[in-house]
Amino acid sequence: MGKYDRFDKFDLEKMTEAETQKKHEYVIKNCKCQGCPTYVQGDAPIGYCFPMSGTSKNIQWEKDCICGTCPIYKEYELTHTHYCTRCSQICQALKEEGPWGIGH
Ligand code: SF4
Ligand code: SF4
Repeated sequence: MGKYDRFDKFDLEKMTEAETQKKHEYVIKNCKCQGCPTYVQGDAPIGYCFPMSGTSKNIQWEKDCICGTCPIYKEYELTHTHYCTRCSQICQALKEEGPWGIGH
């Protein structure tokens, strides 16, 4: 097990509501999505890797994903991409690797 739990990279399980809110703001502040070719101007909240942001209602076409260049991606050792369309880090991790995932 690394520094962060395999699925719960943001350590949400152990946080209070106020702490979760604070971390959400931190993720949004450092998020690089607004500079990404996939991003649709005005869509909010950004920080799609964080579960409380939710998947975008406006972004439908996946182009490049620049999450790999984002400080949040590195800090929390994220492993997925296209969070705006495919759902958050924990959501994609559980879908692909979780006990109820498709098992590959
Ligand atoms: S990893 Fe991607 S979605 Fe998450 S904050 Fe960075 S740019 Fe935004
Ligand atoms: S999640 Fe990735 S693909 Fe979506 S807007 Fe952010 S950087 Fe671009």
